[in-house]
Amino acid sequence: MAIAAGFHVSVNGNQAPNIASGGSLHRIVIVGGGAGGLELVTRLGDRLGRRKHADISLIEKARTHLWKPLLHEVAAGSMDVSRHELDYLAQAYWHGFRYRFGEMVGLDRTKRLVHLAANFDDEGRIITPARSFGYDTLVIAIGSVTNDFGTPGVKEYAIALDTPEQAQLFNRRLINACLRAHTQAEPVRPGQLHVAIIGAGATGTELSAELHRTLRGVVAYGLDKIDPDKDLKITLIEAADRIVPALPPRLSSATARLLGKLGVEIRTGARVTEVRPDGVLLASGDFILSELVVWAAGVRGPEVLQNLDGLEASPSNQLVVLPTLQTTRDDNIFAMGDCAWLVPEGDKRPLPPRAQAAHQQASHLVKQITRRLEGRPMEPFVYRDFGSLVSLGEFSTVGSLMGFIAGKGMMIEGFIARLMYRSLYKLHEMALHGPLKVGLDTVARTLTRRTEPHVKLH
Ligand SMILES: Cc1cc2nc3c(=O)[nH]c(=O)nc-3n(C[C@H](O)[C@H](O)[C@H](O)COP(=O)(O)OP(=O)(O)OC[C@H]3O[C@@H](n4cnc5c(N)ncnc54)[C@H](O)[C@@H]3O)c2cc1C
Repeated sequence: MAIAAGFHVSVNGNQAPNIASGGSLHRIVIVGGGAGGLELVTRLGDRLGRRKHADISLIEKARTHLWKPLLHEVAAGSMDVSRHELDYLAQAYWHGFRYRFGEMVGLDRTKRLVHLAANFDDEGRIITPARSFGYDTLVIAIGSVTNDFGTPGVKEYAIALDTPEQAQLFNRRLINACLRAHTQAEPVRPGQLHVAIIGAGATGTELSAELHRTLRGVVAYGLDKIDPDKDLKITLIEAADRIVPALPPRLSSATARLLGKLGVEIRTGARVTEVRPDGVLLASGDFILSELVVWAAGVRGPEVLQNLDGLEASPSNQLVVLPTLQTTRDDNIFAMGDCAWLVPEGDKRPLPPRAQAAHQQASHLVKQITRRLEGRPMEPFVYRDFGSLVSLGEFSTVGSLMGFIAGKGMMIEGFIARLMYRSLYKLHEMALHGPLKVGLDTVARTLTRRTEPHVKLH
């Protein structure tokens, strides 16, 4: 793609057309500072940027980072975003990389330029112009977006959990719905205060358990015109024949039993054909009345990857990569995390879009990019599946541990499962901040939690 008219070309660091150019700094640009990209850029900044061994930059369309697996807690209102979000500018300042605010909208592989769209404020004034940044090595780590499979009404009437803004929007609508029901003169209507969650993978299932608790929490703060057992209803809808299909059948059944005890209605083998303003239509003809609808049924790569200057993309819009995580048509461009399509040798299916894959790929690329800069050959990425865990909030955590941790594979539940579930987030925090800050933050959060409501009320 040629540079679009009006793009301002910024050259970050000196031009270094190839790795062996010597003298000038090699420019490593990471696009997307999420679960994987932010770990990678932080560690490369510490290792190479600070010592002036390379010029490291992050291009990111958001200003703050929140680890994506926390979004269902934000939506349910059990997490205070401000205690967990991280400012990209500060992280860049502390860890030896540069933060470029903006959304990647195109690429010029011949000139080695990433094109960014302009940013505007609420009043329509420009914040940053459309611009382009040069790279020698580019890593694309822009994650995934919810796949609605073209289902009518999803865009208009359902909320996805792709960003903290969407999760916060859902939470605001939830609290508004409770306040409305509490103050209205007429009794609560059928479907009012009902939530339909479409997709019973880990996200939808975890959200249903978390919502069960927090909705009751909000009502308990004096919204006494709402009868939780009669008025609140959560329906979990899944096209497959069981919920959390990634877990072994025994754990799916245990999870379904637990949700059933909480009063969550589960509809498996149920395909959604339309979302309407007042609920969800199923292929069977059944209509599920619901004031709030969450779509959590599958992901795909962001639109921009569909035609990114000729890079090979999968049918689901992910960039096809080699075992080294290099894209198939350009050695200088890597892709990682949810936006990468990697089918491990001997497997038929690509790696799952999971935080543990993004975390492992970030650790791998820190070493491999350094090796490449030193002129040494790169090693292939090998994914280690540690298993799947599903948190049902305070009620339970269930999961299976796989591979070399447990030999053949092992089911776990309860406290140990909860610890393991939390450990993935701790690993992410450790990669970003190191043990001292993580320790202090954990203590601070534990202390303040004792003096605040356990659920968001506004
Ligand atoms: C509610 C929920 C619960 C989950 N729970 C788990 C779990 O328990 N365990 C697990 O392993 N996985 C879980 N996941 C999946 C996990 O969150 C993802 O697999 C992981 O975040 C992928 O990391 P990533 O770095 O590829 O992308 P992301 O973390 O999504 O980061 C992508 C980044 O790129 C930025 N970006 C996007 N487009 C552009 C652009 N064009 N230009 C510039 N920047 C851009 C975004 O703003 C974002 O910061 C969960 C997901 C959700 C939604």
